[in-house]
Amino acid sequence: MLEQYFEAKKRLYPQSIKGRIRSLKWYLNAIFLSIYLFTPFLRYDRGGVATDQSVLIDLPNSKLYFFFVEIWPQEVYFLMGILLLAAVILFFVTSLFGRIWCGYACFQTVWTDIFIALEKVFQGDRNQRILLDRKNNFEKFYKKSLTHISWIAVSLITGFGFVCYFNDAYILSKNILNLQASLTQLGWILGIAFMTYLMAGFAREHVCTFMCPYARFQSAMFDNNTLIISYDEKRGEPRQKAPKDGDFSGRGHCIDCKQCVVVCPVGIDIRDGLQMECIACGLCVDACDSIMDKFNLPKGLVRYDTLANLENPNKKNKFNILRPRTFFYAAIIIASCAVMLNSLIFKSPIEVNIIADRNPIYVRMSDGSIRNGYTLRIVNKTYSDKYFKLQSNNFKQGLIKSQNNDLNNLHVMAEKVASFKIFFKLTPDLLNKITEDRILIDFDLIDKNTGEVEKISTVFIKD
Ligand code: SF4
Ligand code: SF4
Repeated sequence: MLEQYFEAKKRLYPQSIKGRIRSLKWYLNAIFLSIYLFTPFLRYDRGGVATDQSVLIDLPNSKLYFFFVEIWPQEVYFLMGILLLAAVILFFVTSLFGRIWCGYACFQTVWTDIFIALEKVFQGDRNQRILLDRKNNFEKFYKKSLTHISWIAVSLITGFGFVCYFNDAYILSKNILNLQASLTQLGWILGIAFMTYLMAGFAREHVCTFMCPYARFQSAMFDNNTLIISYDEKRGEPRQKAPKDGDFSGRGHCIDCKQCVVVCPVGIDIRDGLQMECIACGLCVDACDSIMDKFNLPKGLVRYDTLANLENPNKKNKFNILRPRTFFYAAIIIASCAVMLNSLIFKSPIEVNIIADRNPIYVRMSDGSIRNGYTLRIVNKTYSDKYFKLQSNNFKQGLIKSQNNDLNNLHVMAEKVASFKIFFKLTPDLLNKITEDRILIDFDLIDKNTGEVEKISTVFIKD
Protein backbone atom coordinates (compact mmCIF):
# COMPACT_ATOMS: atom_id res chain seq x y z
CA MET A 1 0.00 0.00 0.00
CA LEU A 2 2.82 2.36 0.91
CA GLU A 3 4.55 1.65 -2.42
CA GLN A 4 2.29 4.17 -4.13
CA TYR A 5 3.80 6.94 -1.97
CA PHE A 6 7.45 5.89 -1.91
CA GLU A 7 9.71 5.08 -4.80
CA ALA A 8 11.41 1.72 -4.30
CA LYS A 9 15.13 2.20 -3.66
CA LYS A 10 17.28 0.32 -6.14
CA ARG A 11 20.08 -1.91 -4.86
CA LEU A 12 23.45 -0.37 -5.67
CA TYR A 13 26.46 -2.25 -7.01
CA PRO A 14 29.27 0.32 -6.83
CA GLN A 15 32.05 -0.48 -9.27
CA SER A 16 35.62 -0.33 -8.08
CA ILE A 17 37.88 2.29 -9.61
CA LYS A 18 41.59 2.99 -9.60
CA GLY A 19 42.92 6.52 -9.40
CA ARG A 20 44.69 9.07 -7.25
CA ILE A 21 41.63 9.85 -5.09
CA ARG A 22 40.89 6.15 -4.58
CA SER A 23 44.51 5.57 -3.52
CA LEU A 24 44.37 8.54 -1.15
CA LYS A 25 41.14 7.17 0.31
CA TRP A 26 42.78 3.78 0.98
CA TYR A 27 45.66 5.46 2.81
CA LEU A 28 43.27 7.60 4.81
CA ASN A 29 41.05 4.60 5.54
CA ALA A 30 44.06 2.78 7.00
CA ILE A 31 44.98 5.84 9.11
CA PHE A 32 41.45 6.50 10.38
CA LEU A 33 40.78 2.81 11.07
CA SER A 34 43.99 2.60 13.09
CA ILE A 35 43.06 5.74 15.02
CA TYR A 36 39.50 4.57 15.71
CA LEU A 37 40.45 1.02 16.70
CA PHE A 38 43.89 1.24 18.27
CA THR A 39 43.89 4.53 20.22
CA PRO A 40 42.80 2.78 23.46
CA PHE A 41 45.90 0.60 23.25
CA LEU A 42 48.18 3.65 23.56
CA ARG A 43 49.44 4.19 27.10
CA TYR A 44 49.87 7.49 28.95
CA ASP A 45 51.70 7.60 32.26
CA ARG A 46 49.52 9.00 35.05
CA GLY A 47 51.92 8.18 37.86
CA GLY A 48 50.48 4.73 38.54
CA VAL A 49 47.52 6.28 40.37
CA ALA A 50 44.99 6.62 37.58
CA THR A 51 44.59 4.45 34.51
CA ASP A 52 47.49 4.53 32.06
CA GLN A 53 45.17 4.18 29.05
CA SER A 54 45.55 7.22 26.80
CA VAL A 55 41.83 7.54 26.02
CA LEU A 56 39.28 6.05 28.39
CA ILE A 57 35.67 6.76 29.21
CA ASP A 58 35.59 5.55 32.79
CA LEU A 59 31.85 5.13 33.34
CA PRO A 60 31.99 3.66 36.90
CA ASN A 61 33.93 6.73 38.09
CA SER A 62 32.27 9.14 35.63
CA LYS A 63 35.61 10.33 34.31
CA LEU A 64 37.03 10.90 30.87
CA TYR A 65 40.73 10.52 30.16
CA PHE A 66 42.25 11.93 27.01
CA PHE A 67 46.03 11.95 27.24
CA PHE A 68 46.90 14.91 29.52
CA VAL A 69 43.26 15.97 29.84
CA GLU A 70 41.12 14.46 32.57
CA ILE A 71 37.50 15.47 32.86
CA TRP A 72 35.69 14.92 36.15
CA PRO A 73 31.89 14.79 36.51
CA GLN A 74 31.99 18.34 37.95
CA GLU A 75 33.64 19.53 34.74
CA VAL A 76 31.10 18.30 32.23
CA TYR A 77 31.03 21.82 30.78
CA PHE A 78 34.43 20.99 29.20
CA LEU A 79 32.71 18.28 27.19
CA MET A 80 30.11 20.77 26.01
CA GLY A 81 32.95 23.09 25.02
CA ILE A 82 34.77 20.34 23.12
CA LEU A 83 31.56 19.34 21.28
CA LEU A 84 30.85 22.96 20.38
CA LEU A 85 34.41 23.39 19.19
CA ALA A 86 34.15 20.21 17.09
CA ALA A 87 30.94 21.58 15.52
CA VAL A 88 32.62 24.90 14.66
CA ILE A 89 35.64 23.08 13.17
CA LEU A 90 33.25 20.95 11.10
CA PHE A 91 31.48 24.11 9.83
CA PHE A 92 34.84 25.65 9.07
CA VAL A 93 36.14 22.66 7.12
CA THR A 94 32.81 22.30 5.28
CA SER A 95 32.70 25.95 4.29
CA LEU A 96 36.13 25.52 2.72
CA PHE A 97 36.24 21.98 1.36
CA GLY A 98 32.61 20.84 1.28
CA ARG A 99 31.77 17.44 2.74
CA ILE A 100 35.30 16.03 2.97
CA TRP A 101 34.53 14.70 6.44
CA CYS A 102 31.74 12.56 4.89
CA GLY A 103 33.83 11.45 1.94
CA TYR A 104 37.06 10.59 3.70
CA ALA A 105 36.82 10.28 7.48
CA CYS A 106 33.28 9.46 8.61
CA PHE A 107 32.85 6.05 10.27
CA GLN A 108 30.04 5.20 7.85
CA THR A 109 32.24 5.90 4.81
CA VAL A 110 35.32 4.12 6.15
CA TRP A 111 33.44 0.96 7.14
CA THR A 112 31.23 0.92 4.02
CA ASP A 113 34.38 1.14 1.89
CA ILE A 114 35.80 -1.90 3.67
CA PHE A 115 32.56 -3.87 3.32
CA ILE A 116 32.32 -3.08 -0.41
CA ALA A 117 35.97 -4.12 -0.84
CA LEU A 118 35.23 -7.47 0.89
CA GLU A 119 32.19 -7.89 -1.35
CA LYS A 120 34.47 -7.46 -4.33
CA VAL A 121 37.01 -9.97 -2.98
CA PHE A 122 34.41 -12.73 -2.59
CA GLN A 123 31.82 -11.90 -5.26
CA GLY A 124 33.76 -9.92 -7.85
CA ASP A 125 33.21 -6.42 -9.21
CA ARG A 126 29.93 -4.72 -10.10
CA ASN A 127 28.93 -6.83 -13.14
CA GLN A 128 29.83 -10.13 -11.47
CA ARG A 129 27.81 -9.16 -8.41
CA ILE A 130 24.79 -8.21 -10.53
CA LEU A 131 24.99 -11.57 -12.33
CA LEU A 132 25.50 -13.46 -9.07
CA ASP A 133 22.37 -11.89 -7.58
CA ARG A 134 20.34 -13.17 -10.51
CA LYS A 135 21.49 -16.74 -9.86
CA ASN A 136 20.17 -19.18 -7.33
CA ASN A 137 22.84 -21.81 -7.03
CA PHE A 138 25.62 -23.10 -4.78
CA GLU A 139 28.12 -20.56 -6.15
CA LYS A 140 25.90 -17.74 -4.95
CA PHE A 141 25.42 -19.45 -1.57
CA TYR A 142 29.10 -19.90 -0.79
CA LYS A 143 30.23 -16.54 -2.19
CA LYS A 144 27.54 -14.73 -0.21
CA SER A 145 28.34 -16.82 2.89
CA LEU A 146 32.03 -15.92 2.70
CA THR A 147 31.15 -12.24 2.26
CA HIS A 148 28.89 -12.27 5.31
CA ILE A 149 31.45 -14.17 7.40
CA SER A 150 34.08 -11.54 6.54
CA TRP A 151 31.62 -8.74 7.35
CA ILE A 152 30.79 -10.35 10.70
CA ALA A 153 34.52 -10.70 11.49
CA VAL A 154 35.12 -6.99 10.73
CA SER A 155 32.00 -6.07 12.75
CA LEU A 156 33.19 -8.04 15.77
CA ILE A 157 36.63 -6.40 15.61
CA THR A 158 34.86 -3.03 15.42
CA GLY A 159 32.65 -3.88 18.41
CA PHE A 160 35.72 -4.92 20.39
CA GLY A 161 37.63 -1.77 19.30
CA PHE A 162 34.89 0.58 20.47
CA VAL A 163 34.25 -1.23 23.76
CA CYS A 164 37.97 -0.73 24.50
CA TYR A 165 37.23 2.99 24.90
CA PHE A 166 35.19 2.05 28.00
CA ASN A 167 37.52 -0.60 29.46
CA ASP A 168 41.21 -1.19 29.86
CA ALA A 169 42.04 -2.37 26.33
CA TYR A 170 44.74 -4.88 27.35
CA ILE A 171 42.75 -6.39 30.22
CA LEU A 172 39.69 -6.69 27.99
CA SER A 173 41.76 -8.40 25.27
CA LYS A 174 43.15 -10.83 27.84
CA ASN A 175 39.70 -11.52 29.29
CA ILE A 176 38.27 -12.21 25.86
CA LEU A 177 41.12 -14.57 25.00
CA ASN A 178 40.65 -16.37 28.36
CA LEU A 179 36.86 -16.43 27.92
CA GLN A 180 36.50 -14.29 31.04
CA ALA A 181 34.88 -11.17 29.62
CA SER A 182 31.74 -10.09 31.45
CA LEU A 183 28.28 -10.46 29.93
CA THR A 184 27.96 -6.65 29.78
CA GLN A 185 31.20 -6.36 27.81
CA LEU A 186 30.17 -9.16 25.46
CA GLY A 187 26.70 -7.63 25.09
CA TRP A 188 28.17 -4.27 24.04
CA ILE A 189 30.65 -5.87 21.65
CA LEU A 190 27.84 -7.84 20.00
CA GLY A 191 25.54 -4.79 19.96
CA ILE A 192 28.13 -2.56 18.25
CA ALA A 193 29.09 -5.41 15.90
CA PHE A 194 25.45 -5.85 14.91
CA MET A 195 25.04 -2.12 14.21
CA THR A 196 28.25 -2.12 12.13
CA TYR A 197 27.06 -5.14 10.13
CA LEU A 198 23.68 -3.47 9.57
CA MET A 199 24.94 0.03 8.74
CA ALA A 200 27.95 -0.84 6.58
CA GLY A 201 26.56 -4.05 5.10
CA PHE A 202 22.97 -3.08 4.35
CA ALA A 203 21.94 0.50 5.20
CA ARG A 204 25.03 2.04 3.55
CA GLU A 205 24.07 5.14 1.51
CA HIS A 206 20.67 5.32 3.26
CA VAL A 207 22.48 6.33 6.45
CA CYS A 208 24.05 9.31 4.65
CA THR A 209 20.90 10.25 2.77
CA PHE A 210 18.14 9.68 5.32
CA MET A 211 19.63 9.26 8.78
CA CYS A 212 22.53 11.69 9.05
CA PRO A 213 21.38 15.24 9.84
CA TYR A 214 24.62 16.71 8.52
CA ALA A 215 23.56 16.20 4.89
CA ARG A 216 20.46 18.33 5.55
CA PHE A 217 22.16 21.46 6.80
CA GLN A 218 25.39 21.31 4.82
CA SER A 219 24.01 23.67 2.15
CA ALA A 220 23.82 26.41 4.79
CA MET A 221 27.62 26.21 5.06
CA PHE A 222 28.33 26.18 1.33
CA ASP A 223 28.90 29.27 -0.71
CA ASN A 224 30.01 29.89 -4.27
CA ASN A 225 33.65 29.54 -3.23
CA THR A 226 33.34 26.21 -1.41
CA LEU A 227 35.29 23.38 -2.98
CA ILE A 228 32.78 20.82 -4.21
CA ILE A 229 32.79 17.85 -6.56
CA SER A 230 31.28 19.15 -9.74
CA TYR A 231 30.75 18.34 -13.37
CA ASP A 232 31.94 21.00 -15.82
CA GLU A 233 28.77 21.36 -17.84
CA LYS A 234 30.25 23.98 -20.15
CA ARG A 235 32.95 21.56 -21.20
CA GLY A 236 30.94 18.35 -21.06
CA GLU A 237 27.76 19.30 -22.95
CA PRO A 238 26.29 18.47 -25.34
CA ARG A 239 27.11 14.94 -24.30
CA GLN A 240 27.20 12.27 -26.99
CA LYS A 241 28.46 8.75 -27.39
CA ALA A 242 32.20 8.42 -27.94
CA PRO A 243 33.24 9.51 -31.44
CA LYS A 244 34.68 6.64 -33.46
CA ASP A 245 37.24 8.94 -35.10
CA GLY A 246 38.23 10.49 -31.75
CA ASP A 247 37.16 13.96 -32.96
CA PHE A 248 35.51 15.98 -30.23
CA SER A 249 35.10 19.23 -32.16
CA GLY A 250 31.62 20.75 -32.04
CA ARG A 251 30.49 18.62 -29.11
CA GLY A 252 31.00 18.19 -25.37
CA HIS A 253 33.68 16.03 -23.81
CA CYS A 254 31.20 13.84 -21.91
CA ILE A 255 30.73 10.54 -23.75
CA ASP A 256 27.79 9.54 -21.56
CA CYS A 257 29.60 6.38 -20.48
CA LYS A 258 28.07 6.63 -16.98
CA GLN A 259 31.32 5.52 -15.36
CA CYS A 260 30.90 8.39 -12.89
CA VAL A 261 27.48 6.97 -11.97
CA VAL A 262 28.40 3.30 -11.55
CA VAL A 263 31.28 4.03 -9.19
CA CYS A 264 29.20 6.34 -7.03
CA PRO A 265 28.54 4.72 -3.62
CA VAL A 266 25.30 6.69 -3.23
CA GLY A 267 24.09 6.03 -6.76
CA ILE A 268 23.69 9.58 -8.06
CA ASP A 269 24.69 11.23 -11.32
CA ILE A 270 27.06 14.11 -10.60
CA ARG A 271 26.12 15.59 -13.97
CA ASP A 272 22.76 16.55 -12.46
CA GLY A 273 24.54 19.15 -10.32
CA LEU A 274 25.22 19.46 -6.59
CA GLN A 275 22.97 17.06 -4.71
CA MET A 276 22.25 16.50 -1.05
CA GLU A 277 23.16 12.79 -1.39
CA CYS A 278 26.71 13.47 -2.62
CA ILE A 279 29.21 12.62 0.13
CA ALA A 280 32.11 14.18 -1.81
CA CYS A 281 34.06 10.92 -1.93
CA GLY A 282 35.64 11.93 -5.24
CA LEU A 283 35.38 8.48 -6.87
CA CYS A 284 33.50 9.95 -9.83
CA VAL A 285 36.53 12.21 -10.40
CA ASP A 286 38.79 9.16 -10.75
CA ALA A 287 36.23 7.43 -12.99
CA CYS A 288 35.89 10.37 -15.35
CA ASP A 289 39.63 11.10 -15.38
CA SER A 290 40.27 7.52 -16.53
CA ILE A 291 37.84 8.07 -19.43
CA MET A 292 39.40 11.43 -20.33
CA ASP A 293 42.81 9.71 -20.37
CA LYS A 294 41.56 7.11 -22.84
CA PHE A 295 40.53 9.84 -25.27
CA ASN A 296 43.57 12.02 -24.66
CA LEU A 297 41.36 14.75 -23.29
CA PRO A 298 42.39 16.91 -20.34
CA LYS A 299 41.42 15.48 -16.97
CA GLY A 300 38.97 17.31 -14.72
CA LEU A 301 35.64 17.14 -16.54
CA VAL A 302 34.42 16.04 -13.11
CA ARG A 303 36.60 17.69 -10.49
CA TYR A 304 36.94 19.57 -7.24
CA ASP A 305 36.07 23.16 -8.04
CA THR A 306 34.01 26.10 -6.83
CA LEU A 307 30.59 26.98 -8.21
CA ALA A 308 31.88 30.49 -8.96
CA ASN A 309 34.72 29.12 -11.11
CA LEU A 310 32.44 26.70 -12.92
CA GLU A 311 30.06 29.49 -13.85
CA ASN A 312 32.70 32.05 -14.66
CA PRO A 313 36.16 30.48 -14.92
CA ASN A 314 38.82 32.99 -13.98
CA LYS A 315 41.67 33.37 -11.51
CA LYS A 316 39.54 35.31 -9.03
CA ASN A 317 36.93 32.56 -8.84
CA LYS A 318 39.39 29.71 -8.31
CA PHE A 319 39.43 28.09 -4.91
CA ASN A 320 41.09 30.37 -2.43
CA ILE A 321 41.54 29.47 1.19
CA LEU A 322 42.02 33.09 2.25
CA ARG A 323 38.53 34.52 2.36
CA PRO A 324 36.46 36.46 4.95
CA ARG A 325 34.48 33.37 6.02
CA THR A 326 37.71 31.45 6.61
CA PHE A 327 39.07 34.22 8.80
CA PHE A 328 35.79 34.45 10.69
CA TYR A 329 35.67 30.72 11.50
CA ALA A 330 39.43 30.58 12.13
CA ALA A 331 39.13 33.46 14.63
CA ILE A 332 36.30 31.67 16.49
CA ILE A 333 38.24 28.39 16.54
CA ILE A 334 41.49 29.97 17.75
CA ALA A 335 39.66 31.97 20.45
CA SER A 336 37.69 28.89 21.60
CA CYS A 337 40.85 26.72 21.63
CA ALA A 338 42.69 29.35 23.64
CA VAL A 339 39.86 29.58 26.21
CA MET A 340 39.55 25.79 26.47
CA LEU A 341 43.28 25.24 26.73
CA ASN A 342 43.64 27.97 29.30
CA SER A 343 40.84 26.51 31.44
CA LEU A 344 42.25 22.99 31.09
CA ILE A 345 45.83 23.96 31.95
CA PHE A 346 44.93 26.27 34.82
CA LYS A 347 42.03 24.34 36.28
CA SER A 348 42.29 23.89 40.01
CA PRO A 349 43.62 20.45 40.98
CA ILE A 350 41.58 20.68 44.19
CA GLU A 351 37.85 21.32 44.39
CA VAL A 352 36.17 22.03 47.70
CA ASN A 353 32.60 22.64 48.72
CA ILE A 354 30.76 22.66 51.99
CA ILE A 355 27.12 21.76 52.38
CA ALA A 356 25.14 22.72 55.49
CA ASP A 357 22.95 20.11 57.18
CA ARG A 358 19.26 20.68 56.62
CA ASN A 359 17.89 18.39 59.25
CA PRO A 360 18.35 19.69 61.89
CA ILE A 361 19.40 23.16 60.69
CA TYR A 362 21.01 23.85 64.06
CA VAL A 363 21.23 22.22 67.47
CA ARG A 364 20.99 24.14 70.77
CA MET A 365 23.33 22.48 73.24
CA SER A 366 22.68 22.10 77.02
CA ASP A 367 25.20 24.91 77.79
CA GLY A 368 23.28 27.32 75.50
CA SER A 369 25.77 27.19 72.63
CA ILE A 370 24.54 26.57 69.08
CA ARG A 371 26.02 24.01 66.75
CA ASN A 372 25.65 23.73 62.96
CA GLY A 373 26.66 20.61 61.05
CA TYR A 374 28.27 20.53 57.57
CA THR A 375 29.65 18.11 55.07
CA LEU A 376 33.02 19.15 53.68
CA ARG A 377 33.73 17.58 50.28
CA ILE A 378 37.25 17.69 48.85
CA VAL A 379 38.05 16.51 45.32
CA ASN A 380 41.73 15.68 44.85
CA LYS A 381 42.37 15.65 41.09
CA THR A 382 46.13 15.22 41.46
CA TYR A 383 48.07 11.97 41.22
CA SER A 384 49.39 12.22 44.81
CA ASP A 385 47.72 11.98 48.24
CA LYS A 386 46.90 15.29 49.90
CA TYR A 387 46.75 16.38 53.52
CA PHE A 388 44.80 19.46 54.55
CA LYS A 389 44.25 21.60 57.62
CA LEU A 390 40.87 23.26 58.11
CA GLN A 391 40.55 26.38 60.20
CA SER A 392 37.94 29.03 60.78
CA ASN A 393 38.96 32.40 59.42
CA ASN A 394 36.58 35.13 60.60
CA PHE A 395 35.29 33.39 63.77
CA LYS A 396 38.49 32.04 65.23
CA GLN A 397 36.89 31.67 68.67
CA GLY A 398 34.19 29.37 67.25
CA LEU A 399 34.79 25.71 67.88
CA ILE A 400 35.25 23.60 64.83
CA LYS A 401 35.19 19.83 65.21
CA SER A 402 35.04 16.80 63.02
CA GLN A 403 33.21 13.56 63.78
CA ASN A 404 36.00 11.09 63.13
CA ASN A 405 38.81 13.08 61.60
CA ASP A 406 41.65 15.28 62.70
CA LEU A 407 40.94 18.70 61.19
CA ASN A 408 44.68 19.37 61.19
CA ASN A 409 45.28 16.37 58.99
CA LEU A 410 42.44 15.66 56.54
CA HIS A 411 43.64 12.96 54.20
CA VAL A 412 42.36 12.77 50.60
CA MET A 413 43.79 10.04 48.44
CA ALA A 414 45.08 10.78 44.93
CA GLU A 415 42.34 10.94 42.27
CA LYS A 416 39.63 10.54 44.92
CA VAL A 417 36.80 12.48 46.51
CA ALA A 418 36.54 12.53 50.31
CA SER A 419 33.72 13.79 52.54
CA PHE A 420 34.16 14.88 56.15
CA LYS A 421 31.43 15.55 58.66
CA ILE A 422 32.26 18.73 60.58
CA PHE A 423 30.54 20.82 63.27
CA PHE A 424 30.89 24.50 64.06
CA LYS A 425 29.84 25.72 67.48
CA LEU A 426 29.43 29.23 68.91
CA THR A 427 29.28 29.62 72.70
CA PRO A 428 26.60 31.84 74.38
CA ASP A 429 29.00 34.77 74.94
CA LEU A 430 29.89 34.79 71.22
CA LEU A 431 26.25 34.39 70.23
CA ASN A 432 25.32 37.42 72.34
CA LYS A 433 27.63 39.58 70.22
CA ILE A 434 25.83 38.57 67.03
CA THR A 435 22.60 40.36 66.19
CA GLU A 436 21.74 38.57 62.90
CA ASP A 437 20.10 35.12 62.75
CA ARG A 438 22.47 34.04 60.00
CA ILE A 439 26.13 34.85 59.65
CA LEU A 440 28.73 33.96 57.08
CA ILE A 441 31.59 31.76 58.32
CA ASP A 442 34.82 31.70 56.33
CA PHE A 443 37.11 28.71 56.44
CA ASP A 444 40.65 28.25 55.18
CA LEU A 445 41.57 24.85 53.81
CA ILE A 446 45.35 24.73 53.82
CA ASP A 447 47.21 22.25 51.63
CA LYS A 448 49.90 20.97 53.98
CA ASN A 449 52.21 19.98 51.12
CA THR A 450 52.16 23.23 49.19
CA GLY A 451 50.80 25.72 51.73
CA GLU A 452 48.16 26.82 49.21
CA VAL A 453 44.91 28.03 50.76
CA GLU A 454 41.41 27.36 49.45
CA LYS A 455 38.79 29.78 50.79
CA ILE A 456 35.35 28.37 51.63
CA SER A 457 32.34 30.19 53.01
CA THR A 458 29.11 28.89 54.45
CA VAL A 459 26.18 30.13 56.51
CA PHE A 460 25.86 29.63 60.25
CA ILE A 461 22.25 29.66 61.44
CA LYS A 462 21.65 30.85 64.93
CA ASP A 463 17.86 30.86 65.06
S1 SF4 B 1 28.69 12.03 -6.89
FE1 SF4 B 1 30.87 11.57 -6.90
S2 SF4 B 1 31.63 12.53 -5.06
FE2 SF4 B 1 29.41 12.46 -4.87
S3 SF4 B 1 29.05 10.56 -3.75
FE3 SF4 B 1 28.92 10.07 -5.90
S4 SF4 B 1 30.97 9.40 -6.47
FE4 SF4 B 1 31.14 10.43 -4.50
S1 SF4 C 1 32.50 9.53 -16.53
FE1 SF4 C 1 32.86 11.51 -17.48
S2 SF4 C 1 32.52 11.07 -19.62
FE2 SF4 C 1 31.60 9.37 -18.55
S3 SF4 C 1 29.48 9.99 -18.21
FE3 SF4 C 1 30.59 10.66 -16.42
S4 SF4 C 1 31.12 12.76 -16.89
FE4 SF4 C 1 30.59 11.82 -18.83
